[in-house]
Amino acid sequence: MLPSAVSSLAAFAVPINEAIDLVVKRIRTKACQRCGKNDDTLYRIRLDESRLWVFVCLDCLELVKPGNRHYQYGGTWKSKKRH
Ligand SMILES: [Zn+2]
Repeated sequence: MLPSAVSSLAAFAVPINEAIDLVVKRIRTKACQRCGKNDDTLYRIRLDESRLWVFVCLDCLELVKPGNRHYQYGGTWKSKKRH
């Protein structure tokens, strides 16, 4: 359609992989939302009827999980990608 506009945009665009790398490197750790500890692996869970997702460390996960009927697992957050 507009070859000149497209090529000038491409010249300025940051490759998406590089952009994601920049963000990932800047945020190395997250803090547990229950005890406040910084960790490079946190677990996204639901704890109660509020239906809100919180990120907690493994210690807190093991404390709150047993017998919790509201417990729901929503994924794991890691600061370092392992291949
Ligand atoms: Zn914690």
